[in-house]
Amino acid sequence: MQPVHPYRPNVFSGSPLDRIGAIRKDEAQVSARLAHPSTVVLPVWRARNLIVGDAPAPSPGALLPDLAQALLSSHPWALLGEHAGRTLVAVDLSSLDAPIPPNHPGRFEDLRRAGGMLTPADAAILAYARGLMHWRTRTRFCSVCGASCVAGSAGHVMACTGCGVTHFPRSDPAVIMLVVHQDRALLGQPARFRDVPLFTTLAGFVEPGESLEEAVAREVNEEAGVRVGNVRYRSSQPWPFPASLMLGFTAEAEDDVLTIDTEELVQARWFTRDELRARSGIVLPPDLSIARRLIDEWVDLSP
Ligand SMILES: [Zn+2]
Repeated sequence: MQPVHPYRPNVFSGSPLDRIGAIRKDEAQVSARLAHPSTVVLPVWRARNLIVGDAPAPSPGALLPDLAQALLSSHPWALLGEHAGRTLVAVDLSSLDAPIPPNHPGRFEDLRRAGGMLTPADAAILAYARGLMHWRTRTRFCSVCGASCVAGSAGHVMACTGCGVTHFPRSDPAVIMLVVHQDRALLGQPARFRDVPLFTTLAGFVEPGESLEEAVAREVNEEAGVRVGNVRYRSSQPWPFPASLMLGFTAEAEDDVLTIDTEELVQARWFTRDELRARSGIVLPPDLSIARRLIDEWVDLSP
């Protein structure tokens, strides 16, 4: 097995785009870029991205130019950035039952399925498009006063037409952690995978008023009844399903006695490295997930 290096970008990060934030408010330049024939328009439809080509090497699908121009004028869009001299734009077509004609190249797929087969750059660009379009379509009305919002800054701001508040794209921080006690690591079988012997790291959303380290300790204690210390940051992963930023940690348990929250977990167990290498009778999370990376990094450590 190849060693896993902490500086390797996680899947859905490592975008090559220049986000060109400085021109978002320049409406003339943004309009010119939207209309330029080389501009790449990436559609999102009901949380799925357009994908062309088949496994093992699919790639992002773009709207054909004439269709792109027609749809941009009547659907939520945002400027993603530029790469290799071309502008990239995302557009959300969720209001259409048939977003593209039958003869248009590509099909709409869940990025969690295609993400691991795309190049890292393509996966990151599509994750960015998916996350931004999710926010656009969920920010049509002001959460303060209920009036409608209008898009500004090339789709990166939603401004309220009532009270004037401006809303910005959000990512929800979530901690995800591999808990270790001596030579064993703690993995749980989530309640939503009751029918599959999937064992993965514990995780949960950060609550207001707590640090990341406190969120790690609280979540582990709530789900498994274990107190942890020595919380160490490892790496992070954009997880736009729909709007999370996963923050990966390791933590050391004070003891190995478990008290499981059965609403969250079917069961939780301590595994040795050899048991995780053998994987007999259990399924680990997919390669593209930071959960898997946290597990692989620990398994790769000697002994
Ligand atoms: Zn408002």
